[in-house]
This record gives sequence, structure tokens and C-alpha cells, in this order.
Amino acid sequence: MLKFENVSKVFNDGFKAVDSVSFDIPEGEFLVLIGPSGSGKSTTMKMINQMVPHTSGTISINGKNIMDLNASELRRNIGYVIQQIGLFPHYTIEKNIAIVPELKGWSKEEVSARVKELMTSVGLDPEVFSTRYPKELSGGQQQRVGVARALASNPEIILMDEPFGALDPITREQLQLELISLQRKLKKTIVFVTHDMDEALKLGDRIAIMKDGKLLQLDTPEKLLHEPSHGFVEEFIGKHR
Ligand code: ATP
Ligand code: MG
Repeated sequence: MLKFENVSKVFNDGFKAVDSVSFDIPEGEFLVLIGPSGSGKSTTMKMINQMVPHTSGTISINGKNIMDLNASELRRNIGYVIQQIGLFPHYTIEKNIAIVPELKGWSKEEVSARVKELMTSVGLDPEVFSTRYPKELSGGQQQRVGVARALASNPEIILMDEPFGALDPITREQLQLELISLQRKLKKTIVFVTHDMDEALKLGDRIAIMKDGKLLQLDTPEKLLHEPSHGFVEEFIGKHR
């Protein structure tokens, strides 16, 4: 469904941040991308919605080369949750979630019903939170809004770049569990970036391990634990084995 074929990114200064990465994610899969800081995880995510143009190889979605798609159209079909907040501070919670459906031309009633449904499904009471502004919410509540916003227009793909990284361990665990149960219902194609192997093992149908721009191994948690393909993978999994 989402396919990378020998995709690389060389930045203007000549630095190769992503080095010939290939994978194919079937529809409905929850893929976790994990690796040390600077290994190319965020760059990989940003290439999917053309925020960062790749410099070689092919990225395709449902068999269509993303370079043949209009960038704003592409982005409207990809939900994106980033690490630090990312909500529009001058918009209410309701408006933050409504942005993409509005851009897509949904009717007022459809948008309003969708916002209520999503807020409820991420555990935010619409009666309480709709008219608040982001700064009036806790970090965990803001990330819930981020998840609701990414789901709002029913995108085909959801990208989550360390969405729970800034949260305390308890809130984080709560949101992980909620995301797991949400995904059981929605069956979205999700790419989720984290530093945290516990989180990766908990959430991922499969886990992709990156180092220095290269994809070292992409396998089920079981397979990674029992058959690490590289010394680095073994070391990275370390205490989880
Ligand atoms: P982290 O876990 O710290 O978020 P990451 O795996 O997401 O790391 P990336 O943000 O993808 O890493 O960065 C990969 C490498 O590319 C890093 O070495 C970074 O310095 C480099 N890089 C990122 N953006 C640029 C840029 N615009 N120009 C040059 N190099 C860049
Ligand atoms: Mg990153």
C-alpha cells in the first residue's frame, strides 16, 4: 500500500540522511520506525508527504508514484501527528480538528458531527473541550487533539512522529493503550516513530530498525527478538530479549 523502493535523501550539504531504504507496508498495518537520534526516521516520514523531497528511488501509495500526485492533495490524505504539540494556538480545539475536513469541502453539519465523534473517541468530552484553546489543555490532552486531528478527514495513511515523547510515563501508557484499541477498530495504515523499544514492541505489527539512514531490519516483534539480523539490532533490543 505504501511502498519505498531504494529511496534516498541527500541534503543540499551532501549529507545522506536516508540511504536506499525499501519496504512495503500493507493496508491496515501498524509499522513502528525506531532507531537512534539522527538515524533518518523523521526524514523518512517527511518524504512520504513530500515535506522533504526524496532525491532518488520511488515512493508510491496504492501503486501511484507520489511525485505524480499534487502535494496538497497528498497531504490531505495523510494524517500527521508531530512530537511537540503542533496545534494552531489561535484556533479552538474544535477548529483545530475541523481544518482538513473543511478544506475538503465537508458540510458544516458533517464537520461538526465528525469533530464530536473524534473528540469522544480520543477521550475528550466535546462539551468541555470544544471551545477551549490549546494552551488551556495539558500536554496529554493536546496530543489527543493531535490524534483526533490526524484522523479527522479519514486519511488513508497516518504518520506519527514520536507523538507521546513529551508525556509523563502514565499518560503515555494510557495513550498507547487507547491508540491500540482505536487501531483495532480503524485498521489504518500507520507509521509510528519512537525511540522507545517498549513502545515499539507494544504497538507495532512490524518494527523497522534504522541506523545511519539505513533500514537494518523490518520484521515482526517476535522475529526481531529471536532472529536479529545485525549485531546492532541485537544490542538495540538488548534487555527486551
Ligand atoms: P531524532 O530521533 O533525533 O528525531 P531522526 O532519526 O528523526 O532523529 P532525522 O531528523 O531524520 O533523524 O535526521 C537525520 C539526519 O539528517 C540527521 O543527521 C540530521 O542532522 C540530518 N538532517 C535533517 N534535516 C537536515 C537538513 N535540512 N539539512 C541537512 N541535514 C539534515
Ligand atoms: Mg526525528
